[in-house]
Amino acid sequence: MNKEVTLTNTTSRLPVMSGKRALTSSTDGEQQQPAQKKMRKVDIEPPQRFRSAASVVPPRRPVPVKAPAKPLRPTGAATVAVAPARGDQRKPVAAVPKAAVGSSMSRRPGWDLKGKVSDMETKVQNFQGKIKSANQENEYLKESITKAQKHKAEIEEENSGLKKRLRNCEEELVKLATVKDDLEQTSKERDGLKKDLNKLTEEHKVLEGLRDHLESELRNIQTQLAIQTSALTRCQDSLKESQELARNLEETAAHQKEELHLGEMERRKLHNTIQELKGNIRVFCRVRPLLNGNQSDILHIQLPAHDNKALTLAKMEESHTGRTADTQKSYNFSFDRVFGPRAAQREVFEEISLLVQSALDGYNVCCFAYGQTGSGKTFTMEGSDLEELWGVIPRAVQQIFKSAKALREQGWQYTFTASFVEIYNETLRDLLYTGKPNKRPEHEIRKISSNEITVTNLTYQKVNNEDEVHNLIMLANQNRSTARTGMNDHSSRSHSVFQLDIEGQNSDRDSKCKSTLCLVDLAGSERVQKSQSQGDRFKEMTAINSSLTNLGIVIAALANKDSFVPYRNSKLTYLLQNCLGGNSKTLMFVNISPEEESFSESLNSLRFASKVNDCVIGTASANRK
Ligand code: ADP
Ligand code: MG
Repeated sequence: MNKEVTLTNTTSRLPVMSGKRALTSSTDGEQQQPAQKKMRKVDIEPPQRFRSAASVVPPRRPVPVKAPAKPLRPTGAATVAVAPARGDQRKPVAAVPKAAVGSSMSRRPGWDLKGKVSDMETKVQNFQGKIKSANQENEYLKESITKAQKHKAEIEEENSGLKKRLRNCEEELVKLATVKDDLEQTSKERDGLKKDLNKLTEEHKVLEGLRDHLESELRNIQTQLAIQTSALTRCQDSLKESQELARNLEETAAHQKEELHLGEMERRKLHNTIQELKGNIRVFCRVRPLLNGNQSDILHIQLPAHDNKALTLAKMEESHTGRTADTQKSYNFSFDRVFGPRAAQREVFEEISLLVQSALDGYNVCCFAYGQTGSGKTFTMEGSDLEELWGVIPRAVQQIFKSAKALREQGWQYTFTASFVEIYNETLRDLLYTGKPNKRPEHEIRKISSNEITVTNLTYQKVNNEDEVHNLIMLANQNRSTARTGMNDHSSRSHSVFQLDIEGQNSDRDSKCKSTLCLVDLAGSERVQKSQSQGDRFKEMTAINSSLTNLGIVIAALANKDSFVPYRNSKLTYLLQNCLGGNSKTLMFVNISPEEESFSESLNSLRFASKVNDCVIGTASANRK
């Protein structure tokens, strides 16, 4: 009995819940059998079962709460941990062997109450043992639960740690996503940079090629430079020599310049001496060619072939008595030079050019053309546009500018001032006037110093070259032609005076010279019979005649060295007084018409000119300072 109880006590582990069923079938041996089978197993198994639950957390391998090596499965563990309770419920403990209990009870006779009580007590003891065992088991399970809860807490802690880690990881992931984006961006940039790099590499290659080329060029240049440098050295040596030579030459040049200046002054002196020997007043006669006809038809003017200074005017005169034969009357004249009808403009100018040179040397020079209208005065003084037919004025201007240029090398600087005035009826008219015709100013001749005459309101135009002078001559011609009215040829009854003031300065020598070149185309010298001229025409003729006569008187007075020279008697002489005095050189052209009907006028002209030619004006002195 005791053995059984002990056995059941130790083996029966019926759960409390299954007690009801066991009680209701306490007589049913069949129902106890499986319980008994399982009971044995329970007795042996429980530690294993719990171990299986415990194996989740083996004592030798404590679960790292924060970072387990392997993720645990808490749910699985919980399931296992709870299982024993259910297993125990399903296993009602059948600690008492079915055969033993069943047979003893069933065998007791009904009267064996004691036995029955004893059986009941045994049963009660069994149940008590079972209760005790169940309580122990319960304790054990509670402990297990505590452990499991503890484990659960650990796992939860671990879980929260893991969650935290997960969050961290997620954050990290977000960061990494950003990093990834950055990385993508960077990789794009890298691709771009790679492309740039490729491009730059290409360029670099090109530049390297260029550099190589330049380097080779540089080498060439350096070689050339070396050559040039040595050439330069040679040049410098020769430059030194040249400089030495130049210094010597400069000294020589200075010496020669000095000599040249002295020579120039000597030349001027000698030139003047020659001019003086030729006479300070000279008269040239020029016979105009026949405009329509053969020059050999000119019979009354005879020019000896061997003498270019003589001229004879001859005329057959019928005897008034008729008894004597016709007589030939001839008038002989001699001048400084006589030019026949074939003389060219160039030839005529050659003689005058010496006087033009005198003007540059500082002597006043005056050149007149005297003669009847149509005798060739204007042709002689101005000529026509063709250079070969240029007259005295354009040729003189050409020579002056040419000589001034040559003298510049000797230190002479010249300034030229031109004026062009017309004297008509004793009235002055500016031929360079460019203003309105109705606003023409009046002019007066003023003597501003002993050797300076000026005309008020007159255009004095500075000229620098031939062209400028030619333009002024053209302007003067225009001004003169506008004054022509009707049939009257205004120009033939007026004097036109071209004046070129010349001022020279040699700053090296501190010497100056000043002179005036006057070129005058006089009014026609023809005399008109009083019966044929009336009114204005008569007045004109009187004015012309008086001014030309006065010109003769002035020249005569100068020749006679009279104390009084009537310059003021006419505008012409007053204007030209500086060019007519002892300080000047005067040249008069007497122009002759070749037609026979002009005989008487020609004779008059030649007579007038002869008078002038006989005058010897006092020795001229240059206007030097
Ligand atoms: P003036 O001025 O004395 O009145 P011009 O000079 O006008 O005379 O001359 C009158 C004409 O004779 C003009 O047609 C001119 O061209 C011509 N003439 C004058 N002299 C010569 C000459 N030496 N050779 C050719 N033609 C001349
Ligand atoms: Mg004329």
